[in-house]
Amino acid sequence: MAKNTESLLKELEFRMVVTTAILSTLDLDYVLYVILSGITSRDGLGFNRAFLLLDDEEGRTLKVRLAVGPRTGEDAQRIWTEIEREEVNFPDLLPRFEAFLQDTVSQALTREMASFSVPRNRLEALAATVFQADGEGEAEGDAPLVGVLARCMLNGTPWCSNALTLRHEVGGTAGRIVELRHVAVVPLAVEGRLIGAIFADNLFTGHSVAAEELRSLHALGNLAALAIDRARLHQRTAAMAEVDGLTGVYNRRYYSAAVDRALESARRSADSVSIILFDLDRFKRCNDQHGHLIGDEVLKDVARILTAGVRGSDVVARYGGEEFIVLLRSTGQEAAVQVAEKLRAKVKESPLAEGQVHGVTLSAGVATTSGEESAHALFDRADRALYRAKLAGRDQVVLATDS
Ligand code: GH3
Ligand code: MG
Ligand code: MG
Repeated sequence: MAKNTESLLKELEFRMVVTTAILSTLDLDYVLYVILSGITSRDGLGFNRAFLLLDDEEGRTLKVRLAVGPRTGEDAQRIWTEIEREEVNFPDLLPRFEAFLQDTVSQALTREMASFSVPRNRLEALAATVFQADGEGEAEGDAPLVGVLARCMLNGTPWCSNALTLRHEVGGTAGRIVELRHVAVVPLAVEGRLIGAIFADNLFTGHSVAAEELRSLHALGNLAALAIDRARLHQRTAAMAEVDGLTGVYNRRYYSAAVDRALESARRSADSVSIILFDLDRFKRCNDQHGHLIGDEVLKDVARILTAGVRGSDVVARYGGEEFIVLLRSTGQEAAVQVAEKLRAKVKESPLAEGQVHGVTLSAGVATTSGEESAHALFDRADRALYRAKLAGRDQVVLATDS
């Protein structure tokens, strides 16, 4: 086979493998890893290092989310010797994702560049700091990395230079400057919406970036942008499916899965799990008196107070209309009753709905298990304890009888 045909086929094959790998998952971190592995693997685009910037939740700042490649020349030598000896190719890197996440040497570059960010509202100002002269691609000397990226993202076009040294002073390490040479940058956009950028360089080998390599990086960037968008959409949808729309705490579905996990791990480690089932007292009356909208505000405030009053590892969920459930891992019954009492008192003393409602009280049923019981049976005991709290006059916590 002619040399050209063979390398063309190799390139096509690589593109198919990358595409399949990227589309085979909805895990955003894995998607990013696949993309940067493709850019740096020896049978892929073969860059020394690759960096991926992504916008944050609010869409205000673009930040480095992942970097792949050596941090120092010695690292580079060692890694390449290894890769050559073991003939590590792109498909071999895919199963190494977990190991990559654990490996401090692999993660060093990401950590170092984690502080690198481009504020979206300053793109124009930052872009203006570089290349005011003509013939930008040929210019020699130093340029700030942040300016080059801002410029590339504003223009929405790929860019590369084999003459410039791009520099970024890393926060933390005294005065350390990350330098990039033989650099290529491509913006990541979905339907004209900028979501990030990829930049890659050949600092250690000094290999020049050719026009075709920039084109390949651009093609991979377009695919990457779609895959990232898809994974993030999935993440958001999955998060929404777990959260109660009114109060923002978890919903019943999430609680059900969480309590199953907690019971399973309690069984294994002979630990205790407790739940507190809260029900607002005479809430119908509150709605009648203040209106349904204020009633909604009361529910939101109660959810906030419950969340603020427990540990980050505890789960607060809205179980039903005016019923909340709190899942406490590694918590025995005395401690659970204490938490329930504290929360009951906190809600009672807090003015709710911007001070329009005072003295809202809760009744609670507390049940504890060592994990032997089913989630259903545990809930049932808490529910019966709650019922007794109501019968006994409300505004109190009752501990369930043993299973
Ligand atoms: P008890 O002390 O026995 O629990 O009395 P209660 O009035 O709280 O109990 P009941 O179950 O009779 O009424 C619950 C009320 O909660 C009725 C319903 O209108 C109200 N509620 C349920 N969900 C919502 C909601 O999302 N928003 C508002 N504003 N009210 C709700
Ligand atoms: Mg109720
Ligand atoms: Mg009620």
